[in-house]
Amino acid sequence: MQIFHSIQTLQNFLKLSRLEGKSVGLVPTMGALHQGHLSLIEASKNENQVTVCSIFVNPTQFNNAHDLAVYPRTLESDCEMLTSAGCDVVFAPTVEEIYPQLPNLKFDFGDLERVMEGTFRPGHFNGVGIVVSKLFNIVQPDGAYFGQKDLQQCAVINRLVKDLSFSLKLNICPTLRETDGLAMSSRNRNLSPEQRALAPHIYKALQKASQLLQEGTSGEAVKVAVQNYLSEIPAIALEYFEISNFDTLQPINELSEGKTALCIAAFMGKTRLIDNVIV
Ligand code: AMP
Repeated sequence: MQIFHSIQTLQNFLKLSRLEGKSVGLVPTMGALHQGHLSLIEASKNENQVTVCSIFVNPTQFNNAHDLAVYPRTLESDCEMLTSAGCDVVFAPTVEEIYPQLPNLKFDFGDLERVMEGTFRPGHFNGVGIVVSKLFNIVQPDGAYFGQKDLQQCAVINRLVKDLSFSLKLNICPTLRETDGLAMSSRNRNLSPEQRALAPHIYKALQKASQLLQEGTSGEAVKVAVQNYLSEIPAIALEYFEISNFDTLQPINELSEGKTALCIAAFMGKTRLIDNVIV
């Protein structure tokens, strides 16, 4: 596996791969890898001759300095995992390499970011838009692989690809979970053993909401049920629970014609976790 820290050396390598007619898949990550990330690597490997995993904790998408400071950074063990997974290339740039100067450019994804993560993390999707655009321009992949765990991010990037005419196929991969249902996340490492033991209740709340909605319970009542359920677990502080149209991410009060997304964000201590299920 090749490891590059500079844009130039990465691009020199990719140029040769393309001359050999190889297609390139990109899996953007912030590192502290887990099986969820590796499932994206596998999806890329199934469709491309060269898989690039970027590892970059992107400061411009953090609206909370504490979250950025404590975000786990484990490049060495990440590279070991990626080698075992058969990844071809790691791109692990410094902040200076990606941002020789901070962009003044601002993305506004409209209604897509006036809800949920966009509301609670102002500027987050601007940072995501900037870094993902940079990575797409740097790597010029044939396919890019993202996880449905970050559902709103997927919607924003889908829009970004269309609005800026990026010539690549966007692939959204299912959420991998621990055996107790907790969505795998790099942030799970920051949970204390007590918090970790209670964290699966976030997913349980989503499952309960899904069941109630399918039984015909109104959105309002489902929201109250989720709040009541989680209020029994003081270690979990609910930030939001939303019932949304899957395509537009706008709030709805009952199951929509197409798919419905149930999305949740909660704090456990200072660790913020998100999850979603599709009905
Ligand atoms: P992150 O390193 O958290 O920025 O995540 C990098 C990519 O991995 C994003 O596209 C995430 O949506 C995806 N991802 C994170 N957690 C999971 C998971 N549990 N299952 C599948 N994909 C995931």
